[in-house]
Amino acid sequence: MQIILVSRARKLPKTLDLANGRLRWKLLSLLSLAVLACLSLGGALALAVASPRDHALAQIHELQQQIRAQNDQLGGVRADAQRSLDALAVKLGQLQAQSTRLNALGQRLVQVGKLDSGDFDFDESPAVGGVEDMGGTGYALPPALATGIDQLTSQFDRQQAQLSALQSLLLDARIESNLKPTGMPVPGYISSYFGVRPDPFDGQSARHTGIDIATPLGTPVHAVAEGMVTFAGVRRGYGKVVEIDHGNGYMTRYAHNSKLDVRPGQHVQVGDTIARAGSTGRSTGSHVHFEVWYRGRVVNPLAFVRNHR
Ligand SMILES: [Zn+2]
Repeated sequence: MQIILVSRARKLPKTLDLANGRLRWKLLSLLSLAVLACLSLGGALALAVASPRDHALAQIHELQQQIRAQNDQLGGVRADAQRSLDALAVKLGQLQAQSTRLNALGQRLVQVGKLDSGDFDFDESPAVGGVEDMGGTGYALPPALATGIDQLTSQFDRQQAQLSALQSLLLDARIESNLKPTGMPVPGYISSYFGVRPDPFDGQSARHTGIDIATPLGTPVHAVAEGMVTFAGVRRGYGKVVEIDHGNGYMTRYAHNSKLDVRPGQHVQVGDTIARAGSTGRSTGSHVHFEVWYRGRVVNPLAFVRNHR
């Protein structure tokens, strides 16, 4: 089959020979790549945006696997050669609409992940123009179609790169959250708050550098964030105490334990049991004295224990 293109700008009609196997194959490859990539990107992103960050991460991962699989499949694409250029133009229009939708979804993903939107210009259209290189391709498409396909190809390349960057940023954010003190080290109620209070032994005004959580003797004490044990032993007043450096300016301290379960230099994960609650040191009953330090200064732990991961 031959398609003859006539335009006012040209003196001679242009002929596209669809019997030409090479042209046929290239057209079909481009079309299939664009259709598959666009449909899967759009569908998966639509699900991702409606969900919390972890779900979005899983969706991005799945999306990228699908794109890889589709790229592999393209190597072996052999299909019906009778598809017309009209159908191709219609498909191209649909893809451009999908790409626009993908841009909007990507932008919302940036908001969901609470990322700096300046790093992700999903709204910005890819740079096009400059020197036109129509030679050496071995086939000719109507200029409008060729330009459209080229633009879409670079848009998808760009969106793929932005999704990869988004994914790594979201992963970094999750790792960062594991390093931040979050939640209570033991179940129990807060029996004494941070700040100035009468000393429980001599009644004089003293500054309480942490919070006390009343809990039965032997209750497992958990690390509230990932980090490295920098001290596990006896400190004057604190009794048997564990200190964990979280590597991001934060240090946490867990005091008055009956038994220690970690050694200095040990790496601990969120929730690991590091000690058993007790009443060693300057203490009037079984409880955990919990401190949070940030950049060398003791801070009120209340906001941290009330957070959730
Ligand atoms: Zn205390």
